[in-house]
Amino acid sequence: MRHPEVGKAPKGLYINGQWRDASDGATFEVFDPATEEVLAAVASASIDDALDAVAAAHAAGRAWAATAPRRRGEILRKAFELLMARQEEYARLIVLESGKALAEARGEVAYAAEFLRWYSEEAVRIVGEVSTAPGGANRILVVRQPIGVAVFVTPWNFPAAMATRKIGPALAAGCTVVLKPASETPLTALAMAGLFEEAGVPAGVINVVPSRQSGKIVNAMLHDPRVRKLSFTGSTGIGRVLLSQAADKVVKCSMELGGNAPFIVFADADLDVAVASAMVAKLRNGGESCTAANRFYVERPVAGEFARRFAAAMAAVRLGPGLDEGVQLGPLINRGTLDKVAQLVEEAVGQGATVLTGGKARGGPGYFYEPTLLTDVRADARILKQEIFGPVAPLCVFDTVEEAIALANDTEFGLVSFVHTRDLAKALAVSERIEAGMVGINRGVVSDPAAPFGGWKQSGVGREGGHDGLLEYLESKYICATW
Ligand code: NAP
Repeated sequence: MRHPEVGKAPKGLYINGQWRDASDGATFEVFDPATEEVLAAVASASIDDALDAVAAAHAAGRAWAATAPRRRGEILRKAFELLMARQEEYARLIVLESGKALAEARGEVAYAAEFLRWYSEEAVRIVGEVSTAPGGANRILVVRQPIGVAVFVTPWNFPAAMATRKIGPALAAGCTVVLKPASETPLTALAMAGLFEEAGVPAGVINVVPSRQSGKIVNAMLHDPRVRKLSFTGSTGIGRVLLSQAADKVVKCSMELGGNAPFIVFADADLDVAVASAMVAKLRNGGESCTAANRFYVERPVAGEFARRFAAAMAAVRLGPGLDEGVQLGPLINRGTLDKVAQLVEEAVGQGATVLTGGKARGGPGYFYEPTLLTDVRADARILKQEIFGPVAPLCVFDTVEEAIALANDTEFGLVSFVHTRDLAKALAVSERIEAGMVGINRGVVSDPAAPFGGWKQSGVGREGGHDGLLEYLESKYICATW
């Protein structure tokens, strides 16, 4: 076997603690984006399989909800320890199916594990409220109870972390789950199912159903009355479809959707910090991240200097297969993404943009695109309006604070924004006026398992991480009592 990590990873469906083939025998292939070679064939769940998984999660629900919070926490803690002990093995598997560079994948495993540690600690912090009604006649008791069976649909860009960001709080809250991972990257999720079993998660509490028929099986699960919660991470387009499907049975939804993050550099910023943070904000996960800086707005007096330094840093990045020594940037996930990125750049250049570095795909095999910086980008260019999801940075110039804020907010998205200035009062004032769920001040990354991650506007509904993330899996029950 060329890749032992892939050889070891399970390829079946994981339902009720059992590994099995799809009921109709269907499978689909998983590819290595660096070589375009087939890595493995994985079972493709049918509607029957998905509903079996819902049945297993439902059957396991009562006992899991009744399991002592301390015990639920200890199991999550054990899963954290197992994942960190196997960080390298998981990182290599993630590189193979997602393409990202090994250092990025190691970072992802650590980030994924942190959600398990954080929620192992939160499991024992599910509290209610007691008060006396204002009229004095009765007491108001509010208890928080697990919402029930949760369906998870996750993207390919963080195959481990997007799963644990949901599994951690759900299990801490006492919910049971069915996870449908992205078809590009099912191997990591399947491997983690085995790890959770080893950590002590009982059969049926976590079920994993990769499928080539995502639309059909998720729709069927959302129409099963046993399903009470959907947590989706992915594109805004698919998020809209799932919100409307969830409406039929009024399934509660958490939606972590697309972004179009502005990255603002004021003239008084520390340019060394701003460039370092631009590199992270743009190139973390190869630009294939919902929080990726998508539009760079730089105040006129420093625009030339910032662009020069940013271009030099981008040009020095080593592009290649993610497992190769010293590689910092891997391939894009698939041909479609590569073509889309190339087309956005071509279009912008056709409208007058200047290529300071990069600007083209690197010959195959593999879906490699050079780190690219564009200046003189027209305000109405498509590249500023939609998620690029690749290592391309379009840069525009602004003259006033008001203009910067207006440009930043000129989007239907509102996930994250980045602001760079030495003036903290200005940074906070601008942060308050930005329409986004998260703001990074003098930093290029904001993600933290202990913080509420999520978007405003069409970037999402609900929060993941922090105590807010736990509340997404709890229902409030108000008990009106007299004693
Ligand atoms: P995607 O195409 O929306 O797919 C996400 C998931 O939805 C995959 O598991 C996919 O399965 C599934 N899916 C696709 N069509 C479906 C349908 N009709 N019904 C039910 N499920 C369906 O997104 P992606 O390309 O994987 O990921 C990139 C997107 O995710 C970007 O927009 C990015 O911004 C967003 N994202 C957001 C966050 C956040 O926290 N806000 C984090 C990471 C990524 P298949 O793979 O089988 O198609």
